[in-house]
Amino acid sequence: MSYVNEILERLAAQNPGQPEFLQAVTEVLESLQVVIEKNEDAYRKNAFLERLVTPERIIMFRVPWVDDKGQVQVNNGYRVQFNSAIGPYKGGLRFHPSVNQGILKFLGFEQTFKNSLTGLPIGGGKGGADFDPKGKSDREVMAFCQSFMTELYKYIGENEDVPAGDIGVGGREIGYLYGQYKRLTGQYEGVLTGKGLSFGGSLARTQATGYGLLYLTDELLRCNGKELKGKTVAVSGAGNVATYAIEKAWQLGAKPVTCSDSTGWIYDPDGIDVATLIDVKQVKRARLTEYAKARPNSVYHEGKGVWTTRCDVALPCATQNELLLDDAKALVANGCFAVCEGANMPTSLDATKYLQSQGVLFCPGKASNAGGVATSALEMTQNSQRLSWTFEEVDAKLKDIMVNIFHNVDNAAREYGMEGNYVAGANIAGFLKVADAMNAQGIV
Ligand code: NDP
Repeated sequence: MSYVNEILERLAAQNPGQPEFLQAVTEVLESLQVVIEKNEDAYRKNAFLERLVTPERIIMFRVPWVDDKGQVQVNNGYRVQFNSAIGPYKGGLRFHPSVNQGILKFLGFEQTFKNSLTGLPIGGGKGGADFDPKGKSDREVMAFCQSFMTELYKYIGENEDVPAGDIGVGGREIGYLYGQYKRLTGQYEGVLTGKGLSFGGSLARTQATGYGLLYLTDELLRCNGKELKGKTVAVSGAGNVATYAIEKAWQLGAKPVTCSDSTGWIYDPDGIDVATLIDVKQVKRARLTEYAKARPNSVYHEGKGVWTTRCDVALPCATQNELLLDDAKALVANGCFAVCEGANMPTSLDATKYLQSQGVLFCPGKASNAGGVATSALEMTQNSQRLSWTFEEVDAKLKDIMVNIFHNVDNAAREYGMEGNYVAGANIAGFLKVADAMNAQGIV
């Protein structure tokens, strides 16, 4: 049995009940087969893959807090410090009821390769809690964030581990977390990214993941003899990534016609109005039914269905496994020719393979959504230098990084005889740098 298959089998036996983690590792290791088999004995002797798929450390802790009725609530908090071969751990915090160790391991594993692809010196980590900020008062969210940080602060630092936002963790949560870190440590340091502009945040960080997704999509289409301008785009999600993906799609001359949240989705034949979306989701923190009320030409549908829309380009920007095989078939039947992931692992393995087999240009999230973490690393640089760059400076750096990521991914795929397979290209390009650093640092 090949070394890769041996590891996949062992991992499945060791991690029952962690399907997302197994899915992420399977996708990566299948792509790495061509690299590993060139030197299989050496990798096996050093237990290289065992070390690659095992987090350096997982911290799990209790998060007690008091709700507005005086009732004590308890949530589970986590930080998965996956791989620090190329830099301090870096990756978001997710507050969502679905959070568990397996989900955070999948995200931390993916983050390691994504961070490597940015070309910046950041290792991979991820964390969060099974806390749902939805429907909570500001005071409850603050109480939760303060309790969460009261435990987490022991394990993070500007040269050690630098968390950021993710699902359910936006500017409000980062502010409360940062305030508590500063209170506990007395340190005014760049320990979190996604901070407010008045206390060390970077301009363009809020927009970075969505904008970066579109910069990469534009380059991918251009290099394949197509263009984004004039195309119809289907987007899922209505949060940070989706909102700014929609905004940049407009700016690049495309027409984004859908968005979705956890209860339903919108089709707007006139194109999604960014100001209305921001007002509904960020200001009012309401459901998308409010969007339909504000835009009478748009249609609200309950449940899932974004991928049944006719579109040229699809950008899944909500959550993992939201684009399944039937969705992929519907997209192809409706003429979609490119899928770029804004979310982490939104496409299931069989859907990815189907899209690739049908000649759809497919870019995995670890490449196409890397703009967020890349700009977080730019925020770290500005914090260390006690400087802040203009929006235009950060945006220009972001664009360069995304274009470079695309070409590194494209070149790696070509070099290993898999031209156009951007999944393999991203995994191989991300892996080579991490592997080099791990080998150089010995058995640690
Ligand atoms: P947000 O919390 O801002 O938005 C998430 C959106 O997805 C919301 O519209 C939410 O609906 C919807 N959603 C969340 N969970 C589900 C679910 N289980 N089923 C259906 N819809 C769901 O998160 P982000 O935009 O920050 O993150 C979206 C994705 O992008 C995630 O996969 C994240 O890991 C990834 N990502 C984010 C980065 C960032 O910089 N923020 C960077 C790189 C990747 P509702 O409004 O109802 O809650």
